[in-house]
Formats: sequence, structure tokens, C-alpha cells
Amino acid sequence: MSLQKTVKNDITCNSVGLHSGRKIKMVIRPADADKGIVFSRSDIVEENSVHALVGNVSDTTLATTIGTNGNTVSTVEHLLSALRGLGIDNALIELSGPEIPVMDGSALPFVNMIKETGVVEQELGRRYLKITKEVSVSEGEGWAKLEPGSTFEITYEIYFDHPLIGYQCYHLNLSELTYEKDICFARTFGFLKDVEYLQAKGLALGGSLKNAIVLNEEKIINKEGLRHPLEFVKHKILDAIGDLFLIGMPILGHFSAYKSGHKLHLMLLKELAAHPDCWQVFRYHAPGSFQEEPAVSEQGFTSVI
Ligand SMILES: [Zn+2]
Repeated sequence: MSLQKTVKNDITCNSVGLHSGRKIKMVIRPADADKGIVFSRSDIVEENSVHALVGNVSDTTLATTIGTNGNTVSTVEHLLSALRGLGIDNALIELSGPEIPVMDGSALPFVNMIKETGVVEQELGRRYLKITKEVSVSEGEGWAKLEPGSTFEITYEIYFDHPLIGYQCYHLNLSELTYEKDICFARTFGFLKDVEYLQAKGLALGGSLKNAIVLNEEKIINKEGLRHPLEFVKHKILDAIGDLFLIGMPILGHFSAYKSGHKLHLMLLKELAAHPDCWQVFRYHAPGSFQEEPAVSEQGFTSVI
């Protein structure tokens, strides 16, 4: 519970986009309190900014994409995860192309860059969305739900019919400390047969062993192996932290999921937005002082659904 935060100075990085394979320059700039996270395409002249909010999500196939009509930014989840994990509320993200740089396939490089530059507190208190009643969604065997809680907890279960993954479960109480120590390093992963299929279709063109764990039928192809035995489920948690930040503020509640992914994460946020009887928005004012406020504002997610 605290004041809002932004980055101290501009942060610049260059890397390829995972799906486009294009080299992208990204600059993370400080932004005023209550502005939220806004993406801006420097390669597009008009109407080039889009808020990182659930109502602006246009696609959840393979990655989370926001924006419409050619003004889109894809694969936003790892950067949003790093921002949420480090408690950054406001930032302007300028991009020279349609995709967030993939870096090493995890959020660790973003975390390192933000920590190196520093974070500053702002004059306004942070807003929180507190879950007051359970909300859930499901599709096939997969499901995701949010239940009331006083902190943001995540319990994630995955099952892949592969000898090196199988069933994995991990529980996390999110804080800057647990995010940095337990989650941010977990890389995205894929199966060789899927990578070959995607690349034949012109997708995952920037994908390589430098930015993803790649598995064939029986083993991990990357020479360096895993960073942690539970790296797969930890990456799913990393993704969920980024996707759920698209509600526009930290959630207080317990998120749990089984065989889930970007599509179910975003279905859950849309279900949440459609049920205002299941949550309340509070703003922090001073230690021990909170004030309920309507979620309908320029930045509030109810304004964009
Ligand atoms: Zn991911």
C-alpha cells in the first residue's frame, strides 16, 4: 500500500520482436501520476498512443496484443509483468515497431534496467481493485478465477504431456521481493514442432534459443538447461501478472488458474469488468487511510469496456 511510482529517467533498449523478428527500439519514459501505462508507436504519425487496459486488448493468440487498426502493440505481457512486479504505476512506452522487444524471453532484463535507472514515488496514492466476490471463467479443461483476499496471491497449475514438464504447481504472494527472487527470470517456452509450424506461417520469426526454452519430444534443446526446475509454471505466473495488470491497477485478491493462458486471463478480466458487484476500488491516502472511489475515470478500466 503506497504512493504511485514511475521510473526516474528514460530507459532505452533494443532487441528483436518475438513474432515479427524485427529489430525494435523501446524507450520507457517517466509519466505523471494517474496516467497509467501508455504505449506509443513512434513509427506511426497519427493516433499512436494506446493505454494498457483490458478494453484495448485486440488479440490473445500466442501473446497479448493491444490496439486496433494497425496501431497495435503485441507481446506486452512480459514488460507489463516487470512494471507490475516492481510497483511501477505510470510510464510512457515508446516503440519503433509493433512489438515489445523479447530480450531473453523473461522479464529479468526489464527488471535490471528499471532497477539500474531507479524508481520515484509520486504525489498521488495508488488505486487498488479489491475483489469482494468470486469471479471465474473456464474453457475446456482450463479455468481461471479471482477470490477475495487482502494481498495479491497467485496459485497456478499447469499440465503438459511431456516428460520434462508434466504437472507443475506454484503459489506466490506477490511483492517486489518475491517477484524479483522467484518469478522475473522465468523464460517463455515452446515445443520444437510448434516453432517449426509457426515459423512456416511467418510467426515466431524472432524466436531462438537465446529468448525461449525449446523442447523436442524428450529433452530441452538449450545447452544451458533450465534456470529453475519450476521455470515453466513460473513463466505462466509471470505472464499472468502482466496480463492482470491490464485492469489498470493492482488487484487485491487470490488469482488461481489451471491449464490457463493469455486468452483465459483476459476472459477473466472482462468477466470482472462486467460484474462491478464483485469488486471495489480504493485509493491509498496515507498510512492506514483509504478512500473508496468510483472506478469510472479517464484511466479507470470501466471507462474502456
Ligand atoms: Zn510469456
